[in-house]
Order: sequence, then structure tokens, then C-alpha cells
Amino acid sequence: MLCLTLTGKTIEENLADFWKNRSYVELAELRIDYLSPEEIKMVKTFPNLVDLPVILTCRRQSDGGHCSFSEKKRISYLMEAVSGGFAYIDIEDDIKRPELEAECHNYNVQIIRSHHFLDGVPLDLYNRVSKLASKGDIPKVVVNPQSISDLILIFNAEKELSSIRKKIIIGIGDMGIPTRILYKRTGSFLSFCSESTVSPGMLTPWSLSELYRADKVNAQTHIFGVIGNPVYHSVSPQIHNPGFKAIRFNAIYVPFLVDSVRSFFKLAEVLRIHGFSVTSPFKTDVLPYLGKGTREVKFTGSCNTVVRTNSLWKGVNTDYHGFLSLASPFFNAEAKQTAIVIGAGGAANSIVWAFRNQGIKVIILNRSEERAKRLASETMSSYDTLGHADKYSGIADFVVQATPAGMNPHPEEDPAPLLQFTGKEIVFELIYKPGMTHFLSRANSAGCRIFFGIDLLIAQGKLQFQEFTGYHYPPNCKPVF
Ligand code: NAP
Repeated sequence: MLCLTLTGKTIEENLADFWKNRSYVELAELRIDYLSPEEIKMVKTFPNLVDLPVILTCRRQSDGGHCSFSEKKRISYLMEAVSGGFAYIDIEDDIKRPELEAECHNYNVQIIRSHHFLDGVPLDLYNRVSKLASKGDIPKVVVNPQSISDLILIFNAEKELSSIRKKIIIGIGDMGIPTRILYKRTGSFLSFCSESTVSPGMLTPWSLSELYRADKVNAQTHIFGVIGNPVYHSVSPQIHNPGFKAIRFNAIYVPFLVDSVRSFFKLAEVLRIHGFSVTSPFKTDVLPYLGKGTREVKFTGSCNTVVRTNSLWKGVNTDYHGFLSLASPFFNAEAKQTAIVIGAGGAANSIVWAFRNQGIKVIILNRSEERAKRLASETMSSYDTLGHADKYSGIADFVVQATPAGMNPHPEEDPAPLLQFTGKEIVFELIYKPGMTHFLSRANSAGCRIFFGIDLLIAQGKLQFQEFTGYHYPPNCKPVF
């Protein structure tokens, strides 16, 4: 079940939030610690104003909540509200209030016994959950994973704690996001979502329900994902998840913030991950873990797609083929064509190889000479520094911008202001946020044929989709950006 956490200051605000998101969730949580004091007396009325079961929660500040009442008042507000028709109440594990528990039993309110461990993930996680469950309440443990090893501990709870039927285990923060999306794989019976940033890493009801379809995950669901650091800027979930839905493929695509590639391959076994995209800075780091790789992975030394085959992991480079799928209609075997590639990092590497393997002369222009020289010698290309870019105006058929300069939040940056366009160049920008960079806008104004960063992202994503599913990306499916 997906549970909408309501953090409005008034009951009216909460009702508006509830009805806006009603179609995405099956449960709501009223966080009375966010209500203004004069609204507290109305809490009791809330369950009858909505048509879903409601959890009553008043979270203390020490557990990450907003409650500013004295403990005595907090308990009395909970006591008062219990008779209002709530389905559940969240009570912290250290609260020993027999009178509150008796009131809950009188009104048939199930107790969620919660424990917040915000300094990491305790090694005795399973004991803590079992202890909370021992009194017959629903155990809820909130932890703060700091590494992929912590995620392994959390996801193993599904197996280790399978005897506790109804439980909630949540990893907060950026590292914990997969535990919210794949909540069923932690053995949890619900996952919280909210329009507000009530808890670090909490997703919106729309993304949890519509983008990830988290509540549709079952034992047969194929799990895919993207690994990177950072990773949450990635729009790949918006390409793959709608694609899976359109072809009715029982699969989910999840972002994983990764601290160690080695640990991630272990997690991939725990979750039985079927394949994943690889983004910066891991495109080379995954190579030692691959059982086989395509030719392109071998010569570029870069892998952006990993797929589980029968007994081993296979690496593919769809950056290379994705770029070719866009650029090849403009290749002319009869003419001697030249490409300028700006940048000499991971993304530039696949593109330089793609041009070079088609017999197109490449000039690499980079900020630092050393990196340009290295890539040029590996690919038998020419190179120079960006400071000399003016020398290369008007000589290229293709220009590819493969640096992060001009990316949000610095859209005014131009990596090669000295390079002028004549209008005959075909220009590719790799940055996709913003869509139109300053660099691309100059090319556009000069009359060049331009390609946006998102064009390449989608082209390589569609090839990944084919690797993951064995099917073409559905032609009528639009990625949701
Ligand atoms: P990377 O490996 O870190 O390489 C960065 C390159 O950009 C280096 O050559 C670096 O030069 C240069 N650079 C960095 N800051 C610069 C600045 N302010 N001015 C001039 N040059 C600068 O990064 P990457 O993985 O290649 O990614 C590069 C860009 O491509 C990113 O914006 C990424 O989001 C984008 N990308 C897009 C797609 C897509 O499908 N659209 C795919 C992959 C990557 P030095 O050697 O001097 O440091």
C-alpha cells in the first residue's frame, strides 16, 4: 500500500492534499505535529472526512518530527483523537502508556510501534524489528542508510523477518530511496509518500504510484536500475518505466546512489537485479565485474549498460550506438569529414570512437591538454586546448559539446566561446538540463542543424531498453519529463 503523509497546518489544507492525491494511495497518515495549535481540536473529525484508513501520528522532534508540545500534552492529544475513527496510531517504542494502549484497543485502532535510528543502520536491525513485533503491534523501524552495504542489510529483512507478516522498514535520505520504491522487497506492507519534504528521500505520490508503480511490484517483477553518484538527476527512470508499462512488461527501474560498485554487485544478487544503466563516475569501474563485454566496451573502456545473462554480467555501450543512430544519417563516405569534440571525459570518449570508426577525422578540444592528449593518442585523433578553439572555426562538419559547462545552475557558461559556427555544422549538445544551452543557442542562431542532449539520452536509452527487455522501445510511448 502507498500511504500519503499529510503535513498541512490546517485540516482544510490536509483535505485538499488528500483529495488531490487520492487516486494514488490506499492509506493516509495525518501528522498532527504539523498542525497549528488551534486545529488540534479538529483532529478527531478527520477520518470521517476522507474515504481511506488513516494513521494518527504526532512525531517528536528527537525522531525527526515537528511536535513542539510537552510530552504530557502530546499523549493527551493522541488519547483525545483515538476515538475519531483512525485505523492506526503510530507510537514510539519507548512510550509506555497503558491508558493510551487501552484506549486504542477499545476503539479498534492498530498500534504501529515505531523506532527511529537516524545515525545509520544498526547491525542488530532484525532483532530490533522482532522486539517491536513481540507485543503484537506492527513494528516500524526507520533507519538512515549510508552505504550500499546498509541497503543489503535492509533488503535482506524480507527473508530474515519473513515470519513477521506486517511490518514497516524504511531507509531515509538519498541512499534510502530504493527502500521506499522497492518497499515490498524489504518485506514492508506500506511505503510513505508526500507532496512535502517531510522526511529526507520521500517521493511524491505521483512518482511512487505512477512513475515507479511501486505497489505493482510482485515476486515476478524484474528489477532494473541506474547506478551513479550523484544519480537523482538522472531522467532514465522516466524513459524506462513508461516503456515497461506500455509493453506490459512486469518490471521496475530504480535509481541507486552507489558508494561502492563492488557492494552494488552484491546487492544486485540480493535483489536479483536483471540489468542496470551505469552513469558517471562508474562507467569504467564496472569493467572488472563483467563476464563479457561487446567490442565497443572493450575499445572505449566504457560501459553504460550491464545486463544479467544466464551465468554472468554482460556489458554494453549504448552511448556509442545511440550517438551513431543520430549522427550516421549525416555521414558521407565519399567526402572527407571532420568532427570537433569538445571535452575529453567519459562521454567524449565514446563519441570520438564512434566518429573515428566511421573514418571521420576527429579534433579533440579540451580545457586540460593532458586529458585531450591521452584520448587523442588512444583514438589516433588530433587535439588542442579550448584556448585555441578560434583556429578551428569553420573547418568541421560535426561539433559535439561533451563537457558539463553550461549545465544548470550555470546555463550562461559556454565551454568554447572562441569557436564560431558557419551554419553548415551539425551540432550535438550532450547537456540536457537546460534543453537549450548557450552553446547550442549560438549554433542554432548561426543556422546549424542541432541535436539536444535529450535526443542522445533517449537514443541510448531506447537501445538499453532493448538490451533489458528484448523488445524495441514502444514507438508511441513518450518518456515523461
Ligand atoms: P567527465 O568524464 O567528468 O568529463 C568532463 C569533461 O568536461 C572533461 O574533459 C573536462 O575537462 C571538461 N570540463 C569540465 N568542466 C569544464 C568547464 N567548466 N569548461 C570546459 N571544460 C570543462 O564528464 P562526462 O561523463 O564526460 O560528462 C560530460 C557531460 O556530458 C555532462 O554534462 C553529462 O551530463 C553529459 N552526458 C550526457 C549524455 C547524454 O546522453 N545526453 C551522456 C553522457 C554524458 P578537463 O579534462 O580539463 O577536466
